[in-house]
Amino acid sequence: MISSVFERDSLPTPLRPHQVSSSASHIHLKPSTLQGSLHPYTHSQSMGAGSSKGPEQGATRITPSDDPSDQGGLEPLKPQPLLGKLQFPFQDAKSLPSTLSSLPAPPSLKRKHPCDSATFTPPAKLLKPDVACLSGAREVPSQLLDSADMECSLCMRLFYEPVATPCGHTFCLKCLERCLDHNPTCPLCKENLSEYLATRRYNKTLLMEEVLVRYLSEELSERRKIHEEELKELSNLNQEVPIFVCTMAFPTIPCPLHVFEPRYRLMIRRSMETGTKQFGMCIVDELKGFADYGCMLEVRDVKFFPDGRSVVDTIGVARFKVLSHGQRDGYHTAKIEYLEDKKLEGEELAELVKLHDSVYDQATVWFTSLKENMKNQILSHFGNLPGKDPDPQGSPNGPAWCWWLLAVLPLENRAQLTILSMTSLKDRLMAVRRVLIFVSRKRAR
Ligand SMILES: [Zn+2]
Ligand SMILES: [Zn+2]
Repeated sequence: MISSVFERDSLPTPLRPHQVSSSASHIHLKPSTLQGSLHPYTHSQSMGAGSSKGPEQGATRITPSDDPSDQGGLEPLKPQPLLGKLQFPFQDAKSLPSTLSSLPAPPSLKRKHPCDSATFTPPAKLLKPDVACLSGAREVPSQLLDSADMECSLCMRLFYEPVATPCGHTFCLKCLERCLDHNPTCPLCKENLSEYLATRRYNKTLLMEEVLVRYLSEELSERRKIHEEELKELSNLNQEVPIFVCTMAFPTIPCPLHVFEPRYRLMIRRSMETGTKQFGMCIVDELKGFADYGCMLEVRDVKFFPDGRSVVDTIGVARFKVLSHGQRDGYHTAKIEYLEDKKLEGEELAELVKLHDSVYDQATVWFTSLKENMKNQILSHFGNLPGKDPDPQGSPNGPAWCWWLLAVLPLENRAQLTILSMTSLKDRLMAVRRVLIFVSRKRAR
């Protein structure tokens, strides 16, 4: 699973240099100039690790299999040493046959390339390595392309929204972000990427995208389909809602959060990417992991610190009941059902309005009687007591002032949770009134 790669920090990097080299030896058509520009480090490293030749060989752009006459017969002895000395890329086509014939070729090369100077035609790619792949004029036989060469070493899938790090390594944007959540170093070469993380300038590598679009369009559209399905799954705010397990949240009440845990960084990022900008907030439950009721929060603003932490400004939007608990990539999820107040009519409604007005007045008395410093503290955190609602049943969550009061009253989380879960405004108002009476009496004593 992908998650395992990201959850274990001490995990050896999924793609080690020798793996790079072995996969490189299977590349039939390698747009070496592109590869060079996208993976300068990997490329040269793979060349060096793949053979015991000197560093000057690592600088050549030609891999053994670049020679199309080598029909995939990967033998231990390659024409590498010879090609290494020839200082590619050639600028003069005529010089190749003559140079080849004048050099003492190794036996295996001779056996495999019985061509004489008259029939040997160097492939165009060797002659114009910088132009061949970009011009688009050249037909590339599809069997010579291997999508495995364009795989992200983190998710082992085709690059999606590829970005290159300052150290020159390429990953899918989302994969890289998840790695940086845990550790601000390159997952491959361990170069420090703190500064890169701080600037958050993850520019797409357009060249790689171009290569994918042009040569691996089928694989790319398949990859895009998977990505879109994942996104759709993540956007479903009924089936699998991400749950932040932290504190009590209430409808209409702001809830600023300091996000530093990798799993929650991922959750916040996803809620922004999918466009839902929402997730559920629940308090801890010793047995189940999180409580059976919670409040959806909507992200209003995110401020990122250079080290990847963030302060997320959210506001409560709707209450929910948890139907089942789940997990995804390290964070909790839940299947939920939204809660709405039951509406009353006629006589019952008239009574409800009366109760609503009287509890509101009680709340005002309690708040104005508070000591000045206490009052200021509440005001700076939660703002003023919201006004009385002309229609207490106007919102499925009931009047906002009720939630404001519930948030500021000195109540334990469990008691707050019980009141949050009530779908009868009448019951909620009566519960709040009991608390108001209790705290007023306590202070009077
Ligand atoms: Zn990836
Ligand atoms: Zn790197």
